[in-house]
Amino acid sequence: MKKKNWLGFQKKTRLERIDMLKENEIIDSDFENLLKENENLSTEIARQMIENSIGTFSLPFGVAPNFLINDVEYTVPMVTEEPSVIAACSFAAKLVSKSGGFSTKILDRKMIGEIALFDVENFDVAAEKILNSKEEIIKVANDAYPSIVARGGGACEIEVKKLEEGNTSFLVVYLTIDVKEAMGANIINTMLEAIKPLLEEITHSKSLMAILSNYATKSLVKANCELDVKLLGGSEVAKKIDLASKFAKMDIYRATTHNKGIFNGIDAVVIATGNDWRAIEAAGNAYAVKNERYEGLTTWTFDENTNKLNGELILPMPVASVGGSIGLNPSVKAAFHILNNPDAKTLASIIVSVGLAQNLAALKALVTTGIQKGHMKLQARSLALFAGANADEVDPLVEELLKVRHMNLGVAKELLEELRKK
Ligand code: NDP
Repeated sequence: MKKKNWLGFQKKTRLERIDMLKENEIIDSDFENLLKENENLSTEIARQMIENSIGTFSLPFGVAPNFLINDVEYTVPMVTEEPSVIAACSFAAKLVSKSGGFSTKILDRKMIGEIALFDVENFDVAAEKILNSKEEIIKVANDAYPSIVARGGGACEIEVKKLEEGNTSFLVVYLTIDVKEAMGANIINTMLEAIKPLLEEITHSKSLMAILSNYATKSLVKANCELDVKLLGGSEVAKKIDLASKFAKMDIYRATTHNKGIFNGIDAVVIATGNDWRAIEAAGNAYAVKNERYEGLTTWTFDENTNKLNGELILPMPVASVGGSIGLNPSVKAAFHILNNPDAKTLASIIVSVGLAQNLAALKALVTTGIQKGHMKLQARSLALFAGANADEVDPLVEELLKVRHMNLGVAKELLEELRKK
């Protein structure tokens, strides 16, 4: 494969960057045109996608180059409104790529749906009846969505659990489903609604609801990386990153911010690829409580013997390569094209690696210079835009803003006026 050239990518114009994507053989001519024309979701498609639509809503679309994941190079598409996310992610990806890249493992890829039964007379008897009828229930579920079975997926397991609190109790039936390339919400809900009457009949109880669970503990993905401490600026930094990861396990105030940073990267790719970011956020935050306290999701360990810093992130990542709105939005198609059209497992691996990279960049900055230094330039850029600077005025205004002690919109407006007088 041709060696990719990213020299000066950040400093190029938007069109030059797209040219570089083409020269690096990341996009073909069709997508070059689509990206250059900034072709977006049409209002007509948008009208079909949601209710009461009054238009479409744009967000910045960028790429983070230099990801090496399981020995494959990726340029990762990211959609975010937050400055510095993509720069930080690309920086960390480059560091990790110099140390052999990320390695990932799909621990499983199935979804869970649940039906809550109440007014159950005898839980043990009801649970036994359900488990004895497992095959029949799974058959009814699969008959309700034969196309997923034809694709090699479908319902495959049933578990039951009794929940009791005070005088309220439920018998919960969990159905495990292989949804293949989809996220599976509609597939699962269709199956659950089909088996609901059967469960009520078998158990002589009533069902409260039947719905997929976003706590996708059977869709776990693990990403690892190992960095030579020299790349981080020495073992002191590696030790501090190790400590920062421990701190985020112990302090919920830090853990929440730590995980928010991880989702800065994850959400950006999830949105770019047309996936359901609420589902991914909900799953990740619930998974952060798996040890019965809310913890930072990454684990960084400094090994004094090898002088290496090891990073690990395990997350539920039930993303899809088909279904939902994927395929309707031209920008989502472009994002998939940039990633060389990954299947759902590969996409999940990329996204968890991005989360680990984003966290590395944040921790490295936090335990060394602090994050404000890097943020100030981007903050100045935002202020320049808010102050009304045009394309030619932004850079000189940013330069002036960085010289003042406290920058704000008022100062930006004043400096812009002065610039215009010159
Ligand atoms: P879809 O309803 O779009 O179903 C997936 C579609 O992809 C099916 O029509 C299937 O076709 C098609 N498909 C093509 N190839 C494959 C393949 N290889 N593997 C699997 N499916 C394939 O989407 P989902 O059921 O995934 O539901 C996702 C949507 O549901 C998202 O938009 C999400 O926001 C939303 N949602 C989320 C909820 C939640 O998270 N709690 C709740 C409700 C909705 P075929 O039918 O021919 O098999």
